[in-house]
Amino acid sequence: MRFVPRFTDGREFAAPLGKVVCVGRNYAEHAREMDAPVLDEPLLFIKPATSAVNLEGCIAAPFERGQVHYETELALLIGEPLSNVAPDLAEQAIVGIGLALDLTLRDVQTRLKGQGQPWEIAKGFDGACPLSAFLPLSEAPNWSALEFTLEVNGESRQHGLGADMLFSVPVLVAEMSRHFTLLPGDVILTGTPAGVGELPRGATLSLSLTGGLAVEARVAG
Ligand code: ZN
Repeated sequence: MRFVPRFTDGREFAAPLGKVVCVGRNYAEHAREMDAPVLDEPLLFIKPATSAVNLEGCIAAPFERGQVHYETELALLIGEPLSNVAPDLAEQAIVGIGLALDLTLRDVQTRLKGQGQPWEIAKGFDGACPLSAFLPLSEAPNWSALEFTLEVNGESRQHGLGADMLFSVPVLVAEMSRHFTLLPGDVILTGTPAGVGELPRGATLSLSLTGGLAVEARVAG
């Protein structure tokens, strides 16, 4: 079954999700908590379409493979083909904003990183990308004013502010389009702010985005 992105008004997007293009270390505070240097070129990776699931509802993860970390991220839905475009064109192709969890098998990732190997299996497993519905956009919002939060069992854990992104949304999407053609139905994850941590089994997650998106999810026990 192909995952089809949805809008908050219930409409389905015209195409199924193709790929999820992600960036690592797009917030300085998060790079610091990971003991990793800030980079002058974005660190890009892809989650396959099969990693996408609905964020609302029950979130399952392969806990038997080691620690699963949550990373709360602003997600962008792409509405037009983009290949090697400038930031203003990249920005115009975004038709929705939502929230995502970039679920990460942290022990597996740390082991593979240490061995100098690719870490797809730590970030691309089935269910590794819970996605909310997307707020429809007719014009680009003020990216730096966007704010989003994560609470785990009612406790504040992550707070992201667009202004803190090292690569702004238009610059990031343009850079992604230099490496990978982006197609309608592709989703961009823009990186996580500080505060990542282990996803507790059975926990209730509350995510919100300024401008009216609020999502509750439950982690499988
Ligand atoms: Zn991430």
